[in-house]
Amino acid sequence: MSIKQELLTILGDQNVSDLNAERKVYSHDLAPLPSEVSWLFKSTPDLVVRPKTKEQVSEILKIANKYKIPVTPRGAATWGYGGAVPTKGGILLDLTGLDRILEFDRKNGLIKVEGGVVWQNIINLLEGSEWRLPVCPSSSPSSTVGGWAATGGLGYGSLKYGRFVDNVTQATVALPTGEIITIDKMSTPLNLEQAFSSEGILCIFLDLTLRLAPKQEAEEPFLAYFYQLQGALKASFRVLELTKPDTLVLRAFGFLKARRDKTIKSIEDAESGAILFGLYNGSKAEVENWMKVFRDVALEFGGNVRPSREAWDEWNERFYPLRIKKWGPTVLTSDVLIPARALHDMILYSWKLGRESGMDVELEAIFTSPEHVLYFPLFLSDERKPLKYLTHTAITKKLIDEAVKHGGRSYGYGIWNSFHFKKSEPERKKEVIRLKKQLDPNSILNPGKTFEARSKFGLALPAPMYSLFLDTLWMFGKVL
Ligand SMILES: Cc1cc2nc3c(=O)[nH]c(=O)nc-3n(C[C@H](O)[C@H](O)[C@H](O)COP(=O)(O)OP(=O)(O)OC[C@H]3O[C@@H](n4cnc5c(N)ncnc54)[C@H](O)[C@@H]3O)c2cc1C
Repeated sequence: MSIKQELLTILGDQNVSDLNAERKVYSHDLAPLPSEVSWLFKSTPDLVVRPKTKEQVSEILKIANKYKIPVTPRGAATWGYGGAVPTKGGILLDLTGLDRILEFDRKNGLIKVEGGVVWQNIINLLEGSEWRLPVCPSSSPSSTVGGWAATGGLGYGSLKYGRFVDNVTQATVALPTGEIITIDKMSTPLNLEQAFSSEGILCIFLDLTLRLAPKQEAEEPFLAYFYQLQGALKASFRVLELTKPDTLVLRAFGFLKARRDKTIKSIEDAESGAILFGLYNGSKAEVENWMKVFRDVALEFGGNVRPSREAWDEWNERFYPLRIKKWGPTVLTSDVLIPARALHDMILYSWKLGRESGMDVELEAIFTSPEHVLYFPLFLSDERKPLKYLTHTAITKKLIDEAVKHGGRSYGYGIWNSFHFKKSEPERKKEVIRLKKQLDPNSILNPGKTFEARSKFGLALPAPMYSLFLDTLWMFGKVL
């Protein structure tokens, strides 16, 4: 039997495809790839499979090991680093069919869900119950639980409840060999801490048990506009000193406006636009007190505190940071985790890059602790202008280099940022390589990523060469 026939036997003909059109759809994630990428990587899979059960996932991995063919796990493909994009063709494993909510323990506030469940479906289910999600990503309307476990795991709610992994009691995973195991904080050969953020190269998340947070007596969003970014920054640090928000987000939008209507000519003018918004939850007295402190602090730093109705509107829109895409039409992002004290410099640097490259930029910063910020500037490019777009993609390197200078790191690696793993997290890189060798002897699970960028020819691209290439591309873009 051929590989395809073996897969058909397990999955049925509705769930295995080698149609050209379908394979093309699965050849990229959120970020469209410049066509030149095909010189190095075979991003189009040979086969697309859609398992519905964990046993099917296990069987697919066993077949892949038998034929030594790569398997690329994929959730909703909202992560723009190439993690869900094949490097050497092979089998594309679409995990969105694992979409069941398996158990909801209302007494103890635990929910067990499959890896392909979309966050919004859990949010909907919990509505009307006495429980809520402690943390979730701002891509919740479309991204999957397994996808977030495999990547960053920081987002809304992290300020109060920590990382996603801190809110998971156990998970069922498939190891690259196809063996299914249950993991927790202490398990071997893989524990939760090692499995989380492993970008689909060490295991596949089949199901996860999430610890929920009890709904509090009071919940109130807040919103203030600032004419000076500096004011919004100072206010955010003071708010963190004096109150305990569930979520605190800073958005600076001046530079987008600057390039659109030309009324703002310089970075200093462009600083005129920033908003601070977020959510308090707690006892009624706590929330009332924190809201009062927020109002006082915002006023002290020149903020214009908006009424509750507008704050609710902003909060309800929190899952749509890509609204600016309509101006693009292509959005390039580069998420970095940076010390909060570096935020001002990183914002100025992003504006500088925007000016140099002619890209509009909107900025979002989610405080993940009083000391750290998940910073993701959104740059507007246009993939329909291929050469210019290619030069724009080098912006990711510029931002990560700057973040590392400030003591920060890339928020993920995938294919495009794998070169930054060593300087961002040297010890973790060593551990990931050790686990990869131990757990994936045939190197079939999502190969050529995270700790290396290995081309379809089997060669790992040398980091210094890649680095030089991107710097040259950026310089070229400036004169184009
Ligand atoms: C508008 C927007 C807002 C965002 N906000 C946030 C945010 O607040 N916080 C944040 O961390 N990220 C954020 N992201 C990035 C992205 O949405 C998240 O990383 C998301 O969790 C990815 O989930 P996904 O289902 O789309 O995974 P995919 O993009 O499909 O895959 C991501 C990686 O995980 C692997 N993978 C997918 N599913 C599994 C699985 N079940 N088991 C093992 N590996 C798997 C893939 O191989 C790939 O390497 C945002 C993105 C956008 C576009």
